[in-house]
Amino acid sequence: MADNQSVLSVSIVTPDGQVYNEQGDLLIVTTKSGQLGIMPNHVPVIASLEVEEARVKRGENEDEIAVNGGFLEFSGNVATIVADSAERQDDIDVNRAENARERAEATIKKAQEAHDADTLARAEVALRRAVNRINVAKH
Ligand code: ATP
Repeated sequence: MADNQSVLSVSIVTPDGQVYNEQGDLLIVTTKSGQLGIMPNHVPVIASLEVEEARVKRGENEDEIAVNGGFLEFSGNVATIVADSAERQDDIDVNRAENARERAEATIKKAQEAHDADTLARAEVALRRAVNRINVAKH
């Protein structure tokens, strides 16, 4: 069995509880300043995350998780992502995400016509969440 010098523990938590908890060889996330790959023994990191997928390579396998922003803390080979919501690929309801995308697109159109910046900003974030879920589910 690999010792803890050569594996990462990756955990993703949300207000609903722990969504993901596995050991892997590589974690890839998208931070506000770009994509970040973390292998065992990487220096400690704290970073804000985009609404994007997180990928965890585990030997021949790879897990994909739709992460709704939040932040990553990494130290001592333990990566913890804290986000408002996150879904593992198999847990994503694609129909729900497609409905959410359509709703967000309709709201964006109306908000643009009404010059309603607050509604527009909220709908753009909702659209990003929906598109992220659809992309992760369809990989
Ligand atoms: P919706 O408009 O469909 O509710 P949303 O983006 O507003 O989507 P969130 O507020 O981000 O939803 O999430 C609420 C809860 O529902 C979270 O626990 C999240 O993981 C879950 N969730 C949201 N959309 C999906 C989906 N398409 N498949 C599975 N779980 C989802």
